[in-house]
Amino acid sequence: MNNKVEILGVPFSKLTMKETLDLLEKTLQDNQDKPFHLITANPEFVVGALQEPILEEIAAEADLITPDGIGIVMASRWYGDPVPERVAGYDLLLQLLEEGNRKKWSFYFLGSSEEVSELATDKIKERYPNLIIAGRHNGFFKDKEAEVLAEINTVKPDFLIVALGAPRQEVWIHQKKAFLHTKIAIGVGGSLDVIAGKVKRAPLFWQKLNLEWFYRLISQPSRWKRQLALPKFALKAYIAAKKK
Ligand code: UDP
Repeated sequence: MNNKVEILGVPFSKLTMKETLDLLEKTLQDNQDKPFHLITANPEFVVGALQEPILEEIAAEADLITPDGIGIVMASRWYGDPVPERVAGYDLLLQLLEEGNRKKWSFYFLGSSEEVSELATDKIKERYPNLIIAGRHNGFFKDKEAEVLAEINTVKPDFLIVALGAPRQEVWIHQKKAFLHTKIAIGVGGSLDVIAGKVKRAPLFWQKLNLEWFYRLISQPSRWKRQLALPKFALKAYIAAKKK
């Protein structure tokens, strides 16, 4: 069984959220020499990978790419090879925190502003008292990158949660992968801002209507330029699917 569908060159996992969690749990038990790199990719990432060779390389080398966003789900249907559901970064992170609380997994949170990083980790500690917060650092560490890497490598977390925004976080993980001692590295974009309560996730009603992208557009209008990737992605994916 082929458990991937390739959309405009990016191989998307066809695992459900539950199957993804099971795979990650299994990965924690493996003795791999490099961290398992999971990307939750949205249409913007796919369009980026078409334009920038580094993103194309990252997409080819990542261990798992999950469909983040309704655009990817729809495109997989056009290809006649549907993914079962969205596995979005924020949702995956919450599931991991839940499971980590039960199984005492350790997490290092890298990224976001100092205020958000502190607030988010405080909230996580409160809500998930049994998981281990191995450490945290804000996402503005250019001048002390060696120090940050050394800290992560000392604590060797099960999960390195990287919130530097996409695709900066994917590039960072890719470039540092060979020197990082963590089992699993995942980029989660603005998820810590949401956990900290600084940014609101689209209410369930909008999510259910598959209009989360629209909610984000009207609540953070400065993102409109980034969202131009959406129609570009839809057109290219549709044409590619019809040619298949
Ligand atoms: N950020 C960071 N370092 C940087 C630039 C951004 O830690 O050099 C953080 C920023 O504070 C925010 C997140 O990265 O928490 C970006 O969130 P955004 O919503 O733009 O990411 P997306 O979900 O779109 O990938």
